[in-house]
Amino acid sequence: MMTGVVSLIARSENTPPVLILNGTDLGALPHAAAAFSRPQRLLRRTSCSPDCPVTQRPASVGPDEGSARVRDDARPGEAYDVIVVGAGSAGAALAARLTESGRLTVLLLEAGGPDKDTSLHVPAAFSTLFRSDHDWSYDTEPQEHLGGRSVYWPRGKVLGGSSSLNAMMWVRGFAADYDEWAALAGPQWSWEALRPLFLRVERTVGTADSDHGTDGAVSVEPQRDPRPHTAAFLRAAREAGYPVETANALQPEGFTQTMVSQRRGARSSTATAYLKPARRRRNLTVRPGAHVNRVVLDGRRATGVDYLLDGRTRTATARHEVVLCGGAVNTPQLLMLSGIGPADRLRQHEIDVVADLPEVGRNLRDHLISGHIVRVDAGSLADAKRPRELARYLARRRGMLTSNVAEAYGFVRSDPSLALPDLEILFAPVAYVGEGLVPPPRHGITVGAILLRPHSTGAITLRSPDPTAKPLIDPRYLSDEGGHDRRTLLAGMRVCEDLLATPALRALTDGTYVGPEGAESLAPDERAALIVDGFAHTLYHPTGTARMGADDGSVVDPDLRVRGIEGLRVADASVMPQIIRGHTNAAAIVIGERAAELLLASS
Ligand SMILES: Cc1cc2nc3c(=O)[nH]c(=O)nc-3n(C[C@H](O)[C@H](O)[C@H](O)COP(=O)(O)OP(=O)(O)OC[C@H]3O[C@@H](n4cnc5c(N)ncnc54)[C@H](O)[C@@H]3O)c2cc1C
Repeated sequence: MMTGVVSLIARSENTPPVLILNGTDLGALPHAAAAFSRPQRLLRRTSCSPDCPVTQRPASVGPDEGSARVRDDARPGEAYDVIVVGAGSAGAALAARLTESGRLTVLLLEAGGPDKDTSLHVPAAFSTLFRSDHDWSYDTEPQEHLGGRSVYWPRGKVLGGSSSLNAMMWVRGFAADYDEWAALAGPQWSWEALRPLFLRVERTVGTADSDHGTDGAVSVEPQRDPRPHTAAFLRAAREAGYPVETANALQPEGFTQTMVSQRRGARSSTATAYLKPARRRRNLTVRPGAHVNRVVLDGRRATGVDYLLDGRTRTATARHEVVLCGGAVNTPQLLMLSGIGPADRLRQHEIDVVADLPEVGRNLRDHLISGHIVRVDAGSLADAKRPRELARYLARRRGMLTSNVAEAYGFVRSDPSLALPDLEILFAPVAYVGEGLVPPPRHGITVGAILLRPHSTGAITLRSPDPTAKPLIDPRYLSDEGGHDRRTLLAGMRVCEDLLATPALRALTDGTYVGPEGAESLAPDERAALIVDGFAHTLYHPTGTARMGADDGSVVDPDLRVRGIEGLRVADASVMPQIIRGHTNAAAIVIGERAAELLLASS
């Protein structure tokens, strides 16, 4: 790692300011002074690796102090009306909505820190957050059907949770996905019932569609500077016979440029969208660095939580309810550590069983992606590290650093007789190699297939009763008995090859593989199998591990209450009864919004 210094220097009142990076004069920036109301922000020591694709960490674009006013007043015997565990997509939205009316006091506990780091706010820097302090940095168990590899699973550990770390694709999924939730968990989860909540979440720029919110919390924008390769990809989709349409239709049927959760080219996380506007509320206490160890139970009633802060264990009391919003990995872990889960497994770890709920941690579903990475001559996001791009970003929030990387996508069917698409095709104008953990070795593009409706399910289980130990994550990718998932993913890989063979993409690439190198010499089927086994990875969408349902076997009921326990709910991606045909951030935020409604109605 090297240390970089970014400076903006005004040499005289009459000449535009000049940007200096590591002592190199990058030239005049006519718009810089206007773009930044406080130019001193631009003078900042930043960490940046010289090799990474997008690791230049430009001067501050996020809140200097993080999105929440942090109160460091943890004291023995502290009591609140509601305790929310986890300030992620759902938890931050929930805590902010609960405190709007001033009626309830809320303690929001977050294991990660405040969102001060610039890299959390500069879109194209998202993969530089991998394996950082802002990441729980999980790895799955070796996956039998992926050549025995374990797969890297990043999860946000910071205010905003995974919404502070994600790729900002705003892809709500199909109305039919939510209608399926309603079939499993009751009518309040149908698209029609959730529509007002989506509208409350979204502040969509440039839409006249009444199904899209325009004055909600999270800013949703068209990309400011997509790469020309993305336009070529959409031309390729047309050439291959697919429609190109606007994003987030109720039943998407084709390809589109990605809408992004950004505000003027900076990330719009739930920390910036929900917590920042709520930072002065006296009834909201946000406590980062607080790792919750377990729910405190009095018999079968949740009365608070134990948490670790600054090396000391503390207890906070909830007068009304505790809500777990730790995400699809940590929420089931926390339930099990609290004695709520499969009795036999809990006993193996000598945990007292409070409620025997066999499905805690089960029904894990995730989206797997498998991509073709081919060479292009120039202009990919591999150049995002260039000083010129940093200058453009700082001056006008333009250029490659505004990219969310996955700039376009489309929905397709592996079999034309299917009622709804079962595959998504994703496009990135960069060689996204090594699960995003390594820099692109050269210019390239990635065209990947995503298995939207996996039949395979996995599980989160305890590795240890130690709350700070990582749980076991076993998604059991492609393990379904009939081999449906593998067949479908391979069909998606063929769609990618068809797109790469169109004139629009042939004009960009000669088809030489950047990853895996030399794969152009293989037959398509052989190539696809090699890529799936050796390189398929998560699209970061784990769901379902505290499944909501109307049936007694579900972990939470349709009002998100943990079965058999009073005063305890779950609100995050773990309650999704079925994975959506979309990306999970918007849906997780909506779950937080619904939880707020439910708590306000019952308190
Ligand atoms: C790298 C990456 C890229 C992604 N890209 C996209 C995308 O482009 N579009 C999209 O729609 N979705 C994307 N997702 C998925 C999406 O962001 C998640 O589905 C969503 O954020 C999940 O929300 P959640 O509330 O369930 O959990 P999270 O947002 O993960 O929040 C859980 C919070 O709880 C905290 N926590 C956990 N355990 C404890 C504990 N014991 N004590 C205290 N706090 C705790 C965590 O630190 C975290 O802040 C991506 C995810 C990742 C990781």
